[in-house]
Amino acid sequence: MTTLYTPDRDELAVLLDGEPRYRLDQVWQGLYTQLADPAEISNVPKSLRERLAAALPGALTQVVRRVSDGGDTVKYLWALDDGSRIETVLMLYPDRVTVCVSSQAGCAMACGFCATGQAGFTRHLTVGEIVEQVVVAAREARTMGRRLANVVFMGMGEPMANEAAVWAAIERIHGALGLSARHLTISTVGLVPGIRTLAARPLPVNLAVSLHAANDELRNELVPINKRYPLAQLMDACAGYLAAKGRRLSFEWALIDGVNDRGSDARELARWCRTFHLPAHVNLIPLNPTPGYPTVGSPLRRVHEFRDELVALGVNATVRRNRGTDIDAACGQLAAGQPVVLTPRR
Ligand code: SAH
Repeated sequence: MTTLYTPDRDELAVLLDGEPRYRLDQVWQGLYTQLADPAEISNVPKSLRERLAAALPGALTQVVRRVSDGGDTVKYLWALDDGSRIETVLMLYPDRVTVCVSSQAGCAMACGFCATGQAGFTRHLTVGEIVEQVVVAAREARTMGRRLANVVFMGMGEPMANEAAVWAAIERIHGALGLSARHLTISTVGLVPGIRTLAARPLPVNLAVSLHAANDELRNELVPINKRYPLAQLMDACAGYLAAKGRRLSFEWALIDGVNDRGSDARELARWCRTFHLPAHVNLIPLNPTPGYPTVGSPLRRVHEFRDELVALGVNATVRRNRGTDIDAACGQLAAGQPVVLTPRR
């Protein structure tokens, strides 16, 4: 379905056929610079505004909007045209504003510890559905006197399983919304073909790989797609990405008590980094609890020890701040299939 942010500039030009040429700039800037709805683009005639609004409906219907962390984290639950649901999380930090977007409704990767993985796959998102999440967040940030500058593809879904739409969205976010590629991060479970495709794309976006384990036996269990793309292949693709982009590579590591927080886990990770000459940065968080996974996150004390062990082994590592735990907006907790308490639409 064609929605408000589906058309690129050329496709919008086709829609504006018969209008004076300058209208294209006016509408494009209205949508992406002023962040206006078609009905609000005041410098184009009312009849055209109405025609655009009818041809290009919004893709996202708000079901729930929840705020936590003293107003610094906002989670949206959206309904799509087919009734499937996705989530978006806006995070305001003192020095930056970041939005975490979904790339699929559900996810087929089946990581047992992830709420989205537990819920299974519904469908890919379109470019319009991805871009609209960013525009809505940018608008909300603006009402707070802030500017959205960072986008992370760490919401629901596996972005590299929907690479073409994700890439089209990246181009729009960069080219039309004007966000720097250095501030865009794609997080992947480790789909090697997707990483290789991304390495050949022109913009140097950041790559985050959800590693969680550094030996195949354990990673096969935690991240089942590892059976298809084992660590040696994954590390080789990561090295290729770094060589192509010179961008920062990070490894995500959710620490699970007694499972992947042992000294041997840190040593195995350090060995991969050495073997592939990977100057990767490891982001550590304790696993967030989800309904379908019995094991718990490592205690914070152990998270910090694990960080120190990695650093002592020459691996860059930091403990990540966690946002939105109290509104189920934290990492791995996004699962629109879960029962939700409905709050009135705004
Ligand atoms: N599919 C992509 C992006 C979405 S998940 C990926 O796998 O990278 C975003 C991050 O949250 C991933 O690093 C994922 O492994 C992590 N995550 C999933 N469930 C989690 C949980 N319960 N606690 C902490 N992190 C979790």
